[in-house]
Amino acid sequence: MYTAPELAIVVAAAGRGSRVGGETPKQYKNLAGRPLLAHTLDALMRAAPGATILPVIHSDDLDLYQNSAASCEASTGLARPVFGGTTRQASVRLGLEALAGQKFRPNIVLIHDAARLFVSDTLINQAVAAAKTSGAAIPGVMLAETIKEIDAEGNVAATLPRPRLRSVQTPQAFRFDLILDAHRSAAAKGILELTDDAAVAEWAGHRVHVFAGEDSNMKVTTSKDLAIAEARLLGNLADVRIGQGYDVHAFGPGAHVWLGGLKIEHDHGLVGYSDADVLSHAITDALLGALADGDIGSHFPPGDPQWRGAASRIFLAAASAKVRARGGVIAHVDATLVCERPKLGPHRDAIRASIAGIVKIPLDRVAIKATTSEGLGFTGREEGIASIAVATIRLPL
Ligand code: MG
Repeated sequence: MYTAPELAIVVAAAGRGSRVGGETPKQYKNLAGRPLLAHTLDALMRAAPGATILPVIHSDDLDLYQNSAASCEASTGLARPVFGGTTRQASVRLGLEALAGQKFRPNIVLIHDAARLFVSDTLINQAVAAAKTSGAAIPGVMLAETIKEIDAEGNVAATLPRPRLRSVQTPQAFRFDLILDAHRSAAAKGILELTDDAAVAEWAGHRVHVFAGEDSNMKVTTSKDLAIAEARLLGNLADVRIGQGYDVHAFGPGAHVWLGGLKIEHDHGLVGYSDADVLSHAITDALLGALADGDIGSHFPPGDPQWRGAASRIFLAAASAKVRARGGVIAHVDATLVCERPKLGPHRDAIRASIAGIVKIPLDRVAIKATTSEGLGFTGREEGIASIAVATIRLPL
């Protein structure tokens, strides 16, 4: 457990990711159902509990960032993001300045690429230890291939000695004042395009120690890397399960119903111990069913005063958190509402968006349908609403 003054981590997430292609910067592309950046932030929060984690983002990306932060497992230590500058170097400097303006400056700062989502606890701890000893330290791995320097005509000018070469990664680790001063000096001298923070420290005359990096600590740069990273994330999630849920609530007096966490005006309400959100209850049971972990009544017993009138989004969010706590992902949710009225077609997309937000999965993984029962049975007589749901989850084997 770190304390905030002891360790801060600046996450460089302001890049445009032009080598991946498409409109969305790579750090916000979906990987296994969540934005790449959410995976990276989760890995950092897990590896460095108690540390301040400061994302530096592009000013155009605030909505994308908030979506990513909302799909993180936790928000422990996650600071409000700051906006970056025109180069990576400028963005990191602005992150460091934000930390410098805090009441307590960190002793050690790690600077990490948003696109390295597989950063391990071991690597973080090694980086912190190396920075304490050396002042400036970076992870590097041996090269598999021989590196040639070429001349302007494309001919070999030199064969570089491979044992002395390292491919360097992040997190790069520094004593905070050392790297802050180096960044300030470089900016003041008009040096603005250095591509990593070690280069800033080197430029300022500091010795930078290289410790062993990890081959698994890949940087997602191309669309092929995205596919490799996603396969790695999903590779051990081979225990695919489908759960189903069913719920009914009766109409009673009222002026609205709650469906999927959304308030919908109606000439009746639904009767229940909580807010009687029949759709959220069915999906909650589908998720619990997929986990083989009881049902909504066993986790949130009716009659328990804390759930009287409760917003059912709490139950749905808790069931979805249980999947993530098992190391799993929710692949898909599909539900049907059965009633004559209210007419749900106009609300369908808003209900989908509400559920996607509560369950923390992308909108295209949530399906909601509405049907009547042709006047037959209790739904046909408009005595209540029924809901049926299935959820597909993937758990580690
Ligand atoms: Mg219910």
